[in-house]
Amino acid sequence: MKRLCYGTIALTLRHCAPQSTLQQALHKAMMSAIEPWDDKRDSSQASRLFKCEINPAQDICDTAKTIDHLPVSAHFEKYVVPLLDPNKQKNAVLALIEIVREDNTIDEDTVLIKQGSITKELLCIADAINIADFLSGLFLYAVAYVANKEGAGCIEKITPEFISSFDLQKPGFSITQTQLTLPEPPVAWHTRLLRECGGICACGVPLGLGMKGGGFDACSFVFLPRDDPGRPTIGDAIALCPSCYSWYLVTSQDERQALRKHKERIAARALAGDEVSGIKIDEQISEVLRTIDTYEVSEDALAESQRTFDPSTIKSKIRNIPLRRRTISYVTEYFPYVRGLLQAIEKDSDSEIIAQQFNLQYLKAKRRIKAESDIADVIAEDLYNHTGQQHREACQIVVAYFIQSCEVFKRNAVSK
Ligand SMILES: [Zn+2]
Repeated sequence: MKRLCYGTIALTLRHCAPQSTLQQALHKAMMSAIEPWDDKRDSSQASRLFKCEINPAQDICDTAKTIDHLPVSAHFEKYVVPLLDPNKQKNAVLALIEIVREDNTIDEDTVLIKQGSITKELLCIADAINIADFLSGLFLYAVAYVANKEGAGCIEKITPEFISSFDLQKPGFSITQTQLTLPEPPVAWHTRLLRECGGICACGVPLGLGMKGGGFDACSFVFLPRDDPGRPTIGDAIALCPSCYSWYLVTSQDERQALRKHKERIAARALAGDEVSGIKIDEQISEVLRTIDTYEVSEDALAESQRTFDPSTIKSKIRNIPLRRRTISYVTEYFPYVRGLLQAIEKDSDSEIIAQQFNLQYLKAKRRIKAESDIADVIAEDLYNHTGQQHREACQIVVAYFIQSCEVFKRNAVSK
């Protein structure tokens, strides 16, 4: 087993620096990130620290626990990274990740790099790393929490051969030089971005919980990659939960692009939702929803309906299998009942008007989104929001009714 400690970090970097770089220079560059360098006190310690014979001074360890990480990372970017051989930076990072992986005193969920809250687990699967944040993060962790002498048993395994064993590993792995703190989309966009995703992260976790002082401390905003170099817009931004944000910082460009697909889908849904909400469904639908909620179909009626119901209309309209299954199930159970309710409210052809309103909503939504299931969701969600956020399932049942009975989801007859 290898151990992450100041000595193993320092020796790894020493092997990745040009011959001309002195051990002392490397040691000074790192330690002066924490405290002003004191030649008298500090210069004699470098070689013993590199061999894990001693621990760093207690006051340095204490400061490392509380110091702000951002300036330390900036310091590493300016003074430590330039000491390394540019051709060996990747080896240095991969070797240190390997040391972290082997070090079973570090738990998987231990945050090793404060910038982006990157844990051991995330580090081991990262495809890209900001070298200054990475080195400064490991350095602060080791100085603050690991007795340097603990590395004594493994320091001799940190050899030039160990470093060069990473020469051909992880060809897609990339090192970035700029700060890991990404440019943030403007605050003015935050509300819209949260509304767009319905307050749910791409991973399904609710966002914006734990609001403090008006800010969302359980939510981060990032820009997604663009194909062209133009100025990013709100269409390039997305809200993420803390763990997705940490993942985003270290993931590959391909994964970031994939997240863009998700963003495009939710943005289209939000736009469709705006347009759909412009068409109000007649007030009388509220009464229908309320009644559906308290209705329980009798077993006989259900059996009869299952025997006689012909799902071919729905099958011809909906390709999406889960939506089709759900719609068939609702229609089988509720169709005669909902029809009865709508007929009961019929005066001046009100139910005909309602049907047309749903159809118009469908046409509006279809202009923005392709997936049928998304269209049905947007319409049902709008109904739910406009009727006091009650009877959610009844809203889906009514939408299913109109899919079966009228123009909603009608296949394009012309292109057939
Ligand atoms: Zn998430």
